[in-house]
Amino acid sequence: MTPQPNPQVGAAVKAADRAHVFHSWSAQELIDPLAVAGAEGSYFWDYDGKRYLDFTSGLVFTNIGYQHPKVVAAIQEQAATLTTFAPAFAVEARSEAARLIAERTPGDLDKIFFTNGGAEAVENATRMARLHTGRPKILSAYRSYHGATSTAINLTGDPRRWPNDIGAAGVVHFWAPFLYRSPFHAENERQECERALQHLEDTIAFEGPGTIAAVILETIPGTAGIMTPPPGYLTGVREICDRYGIVFVLDEVMAGFGRTGKWFAADHYEVTPDLMTFAKGVNSGYVPLGGVAISSAIAETFARRPYPGGLTYSGHPLACAAAVATINVMEEEGIVEQAARIGETVLGPGLRELAERHPSVGEVRGTGVFWALELVKDRETREPLVPYNAAGTDNAPMAAFGATAKAHGLWPFINMNRTHVVPPCNVTEAEAKEGLAVLDMALSIADEHTV
Ligand code: PMP
Repeated sequence: MTPQPNPQVGAAVKAADRAHVFHSWSAQELIDPLAVAGAEGSYFWDYDGKRYLDFTSGLVFTNIGYQHPKVVAAIQEQAATLTTFAPAFAVEARSEAARLIAERTPGDLDKIFFTNGGAEAVENATRMARLHTGRPKILSAYRSYHGATSTAINLTGDPRRWPNDIGAAGVVHFWAPFLYRSPFHAENERQECERALQHLEDTIAFEGPGTIAAVILETIPGTAGIMTPPPGYLTGVREICDRYGIVFVLDEVMAGFGRTGKWFAADHYEVTPDLMTFAKGVNSGYVPLGGVAISSAIAETFARRPYPGGLTYSGHPLACAAAVATINVMEEEGIVEQAARIGETVLGPGLRELAERHPSVGEVRGTGVFWALELVKDRETREPLVPYNAAGTDNAPMAAFGATAKAHGLWPFINMNRTHVVPPCNVTEAEAKEGLAVLDMALSIADEHTV
């Protein structure tokens, strides 16, 4: 059902939105949200009929694109059979979703606690770690995003934490590796890895190992810039956590379910955490769903003692039916492999080629359909194209970059001085190339702001 262009309806949708919808992360009077009429696959369109190739996957969640007919049908079928049911009961869609997820998560992460999204998954993972260890502190990385509920936003390192930061008890930040802007002044990946591990150990030593419940890391930090960790880092963190009896939490809310070209980013690094959070791609965001995959040791803690946490909609049947259908579609259509192939053959080479021609591109990093271009004023000094946490006029170069992309039919993901290239995992080669061609034009605008 492709809606026909209808500017009048679009204007009414927009007027009601402006009158009554209070938007996330926004100064309400300074925003101008696009009224979206429909979406299919890798595209969405407005009420004037203008189409956009979505290089953002929504908020990096439509891993199988919009309106996949099999997932839409599964949601409709579930709605017709059993739309909702309380979490204390065994329900087919819920148990099947848990089974399919547990079969794909690494190691012995075989029990699934369902939430409505990523932040709640982080809240519950940290609570499980604290109850399991009896310790108060959680260590998280400065360059990270873990969600916007109270613990999750305090764990977050991204500047969105700042206005929300109450210096929450028990949250300690540390530096994770990022060679391009090395907090350790390292010159190569090996050095960066060694120094980052030493820094984590020092932090643990001075915080007191017996006070630390968990270390939480995004396997590949997403919102903060898609920094693929150097070889050996995550296995090194695993060893440190084991040495001190600290729970290792990997946040795969953004990187999980095919985005990196494997089911989970942890699969690239052969590391198994004790707890793994997920959301977004688990059902392509068709119905809100997230969760925590739990190791057997932590599950054992709550085998004869109640887990003191829960959510009314935990494992909602509609969301779980969407997850079952999504995972089955990903298997049937080889979507995880497609993400890997597009990354290796189109996006990786294409973005590196753009970097060669555009002085505004400081670095290209990523894997699968999970890429970031770090835009700079000056490649030598690596000064970012816009200042850290830039707003308003400071952000003009990125705004101009975004406006150019949109004018040519590409919806780009922009965060500070970066654009992330995060299309659906089943983006086709032709679509990926179409997006690269528009990025080429938009980068020419960014180039005008280089020295
Ligand atoms: N963790 C990570 C790694 C994320 O990327 C996000 C969302 N971008 C979250 C947690 C929070 O998820 P949600 O917005 O569903 O609460």
